Amino acid sequence: MSQLRLPSVPSRLAARIFGTPKHPLTHTSQRTTPSNFRKLPIIHSTDVARCWFHSTQRAPLLDFIFSSKKKSSKEATSTISQPSTSGASVPLLTADNLFHPLSQSPIPTIREKSVFIAEHGCCPVCVESQPFTDRLIRHMTTSHPNDAQGTVPQQQSPENVLTLNKLQSKPPTFECPECGYPTHCSQEHYEQDKANHDKICQWLRETNQDEHDLRSGRAFKEFEFPSTQPEEDVVNLANWDTLLYTRSFPSLVNPRAIRHVTKLLTYPMTMASVIHPLSPYNLTNLLTAEGLRSLAALRTTLGEHVQLRARKDVILDPLRIFVVGARAEAMLPPHVYLQLAHLFPHSPLHIYFVGPEATPPPSLKERHVGVTPQLLLRWEQKVFHEFFHEATPFDPYRDIFFLFSPGIGYPFARSVWQPSLETMIETKCPIFITSYNRPDMTSDLAAIEEDYKDTFDWIMKPGENVFRSLKKEVNLLDLTETSQANQFIYGIRGKKYEVTLEQEDSEQ
Ligand SMILES: [Zn+2]
Ligand SMILES: [Zn+2]
Repeated sequence: MSQLRLPSVPSRLAARIFGTPKHPLTHTSQRTTPSNFRKLPIIHSTDVARCWFHSTQRAPLLDFIFSSKKKSSKEATSTISQPSTSGASVPLLTADNLFHPLSQSPIPTIREKSVFIAEHGCCPVCVESQPFTDRLIRHMTTSHPNDAQGTVPQQQSPENVLTLNKLQSKPPTFECPECGYPTHCSQEHYEQDKANHDKICQWLRETNQDEHDLRSGRAFKEFEFPSTQPEEDVVNLANWDTLLYTRSFPSLVNPRAIRHVTKLLTYPMTMASVIHPLSPYNLTNLLTAEGLRSLAALRTTLGEHVQLRARKDVILDPLRIFVVGARAEAMLPPHVYLQLAHLFPHSPLHIYFVGPEATPPPSLKERHVGVTPQLLLRWEQKVFHEFFHEATPFDPYRDIFFLFSPGIGYPFARSVWQPSLETMIETKCPIFITSYNRPDMTSDLAAIEEDYKDTFDWIMKPGENVFRSLKKEVNLLDLTETSQANQFIYGIRGKKYEVTLEQEDSEQ
């Protein structure tokens, strides 16, 4: 089985070469695994019958990537810019011209959102006028045998929300003049609901401007990420401010730039903040004693990498990070993950994006890439329990799982996740899971507690993720609902901590 592992690299070599974020991509000599992927029945029924997180939060992230790249064909349709006499692209939207009512946006993809909301969204006043029982269904409450009160929140499937919107609301076609979103079915309902809407109007306006900014065609200075960290400069992982400051991120002069950057970096930095010895999580902040044991094991390996960094004759075992159920995070440009690698300059890191939707960014032709000799990325378009044989043996001293907003609690995803989660739990490696808002977390936690009862220990209690995206996202099906990528985080690990040493692994 070990022949399918990506090769280890000496860290001295890594330390020399992984300097610049714009490093040309070098492909490893690893052979690709036969494509044997199986689609989950989750996402593909129709364009709109997707988890709203996919349709509203993840999709803009992709747009985000396209618009931060130079000159892709996709960008040509989603941003507006015109050629100047010198041939260079000139942005048509300037910083003081970012607000447009959605239906009158100069950007086609934003006008399409307005059409989508009018077709599938809901008016909060219409919904509130429904009988109590109907509203109860809408508010994601369902009978649950294990809960003392008899009910726990469970996410409605997007199909259900679409149906409920159709049944309970007239189409929201009236655009709020302040935020530009079609929020209500009529001016009358808008004015009736003004006090409630005012609570969210400001961030909707902010989102409106952010969306236009991302497609404005301007140069994104904030995406010029810093290179390696000088040895003497310690990184501070207490929060975004201290991280961005101590990593010398340039051009983060305004909150909008910080929102853009954190939306992109929330994935690598959430991973780094858990693994790093200077993690903000400890026994007084979310981590449990079991969690400390798990992370201490990983940090033992990191410590060995540091100790052996000068040894030219030693091939180091990499730290392996498995991002399971990967979707948009798999499509981030590889240099985004270099920001993770820069925080572990002496450790070889292998990141595996595993899942039916784990596709590499469009710029890559291969399913594995050595971004630098230190950092290898690999994409496996399979469900985890069909892939894991290729990566065995798993070792709690060097393997860790991340599940970014997996939606385990969604009725249609729950059984699909089960064999994969059981496999992950059996490895005894730490599993960290994020959620994009509180209902999402509550429903995932309820499913985990019920389906995997007595097989796992908590390693991190549920709580707010220090490195969540600072950009609030809009649920197009219900504008009153907000989310942030990786807003919450928690961790579990298979019960009974035993490190099973396979014959090829040496004693740690
Ligand atoms: Zn209405
Ligand atoms: Zn408004």
